[in-house]
Amino acid sequence: MRFDTELLHFDASPGDPCRPVSTPIYQTATFEQPGPEGGGAFDYSRSGNPTRAVLERQLARLERGARGLAFASGMAALANVARLLRAGDEIVAGRDLYGGTFRLLAGVLPAQGISVRWADTTDRDAVAAALGPRTRLVLVESPSNPRLEVSDLRALAAAAHDAGALLVADNSLLSPRLQRPLELGADLVVHSATKWLGGHADVTAGAVIAREPGIGERLAWFQNAEGNALGPFDSWLLLRGLKTLSLRVERQQRTARRLARRLAAHPAVTRVHWPGFPGSPARGLLRAQARGPGAVLSFETGSEEASLRIVRALRRFKVTVSFGSVGSTASLPCRMSHASVPPELRDPVRLPPDLVRLSAGIEDPRDLEADLARALGVSCATEPVEDLGDDGPP
Ligand SMILES: *Cc1c(COP(=O)(O)O)cnc(C)c1O
Repeated sequence: MRFDTELLHFDASPGDPCRPVSTPIYQTATFEQPGPEGGGAFDYSRSGNPTRAVLERQLARLERGARGLAFASGMAALANVARLLRAGDEIVAGRDLYGGTFRLLAGVLPAQGISVRWADTTDRDAVAAALGPRTRLVLVESPSNPRLEVSDLRALAAAAHDAGALLVADNSLLSPRLQRPLELGADLVVHSATKWLGGHADVTAGAVIAREPGIGERLAWFQNAEGNALGPFDSWLLLRGLKTLSLRVERQQRTARRLARRLAAHPAVTRVHWPGFPGSPARGLLRAQARGPGAVLSFETGSEEASLRIVRALRRFKVTVSFGSVGSTASLPCRMSHASVPPELRDPVRLPPDLVRLSAGIEDPRDLEADLARALGVSCATEPVEDLGDDGPP
């Protein structure tokens, strides 16, 4: 079976004589046992639930791992992975990461005695220099959020393993449709399933997929111990969203490519972050490890004021945090998703205040292009303002 077929063909309800094609939502906290000594397939939904079990198996299968775990959010998934560490251990983490990941790494883990070294993960020498005898995890987003930096996952896995550490890849930006880090040597994949896996901005969820069953077992132990697993209805929403993953990603990626080209040619735009431009070094690396650049891109204008004006003028891109939904979104990471980056890290992180992040949706790409061109025209007086023929002021 190929990936797109696997999205549809799995056992939706194991052992169920009714053979439903959609997994039933087992909206129950507890399961009656055959007797006081237990022995039922499930006993309590914190520990395991049939709807979540189908989702977790499917997540493991799609990412080519031994074990999948579904959590209440991407942050809960990352916090679960951090449980592999003890006081005195170290994490080496990339500089370009989701804002909430900074909050966990810089605000939560140090209080547990776990320290973090920041490294530019696009530079293997910088990562090698950051690795030490106490390093247990290397955490990377590739492409990263919000600057779409591409890191060499095979090289990072080798460097981490040489140092006795595990490589954790946050695959939220691409999804297993475009990139499967476990096949490249990563030990764990983490997802904000809120993004591409769900795909409809209607569920907050996270996933961890482990290559090794032993590590998966340890993480499952913590999932049960800490009670942060995904509920049955949210698990069902993810199961439904996953079926259209390929259709959505392919369409949205095609649209993002058009938007990236438009932006790159526009005089009001000083820089476009998108790893799909022919000839860019990121593209060569991306092609060696992924099947496409995805549908998230970001750009700079050289002026925070201009970026604010552009984002305010957009109408087909909703101003929201998050990405990967069927609806197009726009955000200013510095003010929104990454506002929690601690001030002392603002310098190493160097997030430009004028950075605008876009996520292409499944709308007619011509409407999105026209909207973007019009919004850019508003910011740049030399560009004629295109009349969309729509009602209402821009
Ligand atoms: C959104 C996001 C997260 C956090 O996921 P939530 O579902 O919002 O908790 C983690 N990593 C990346 C790359 C993200 O974009």
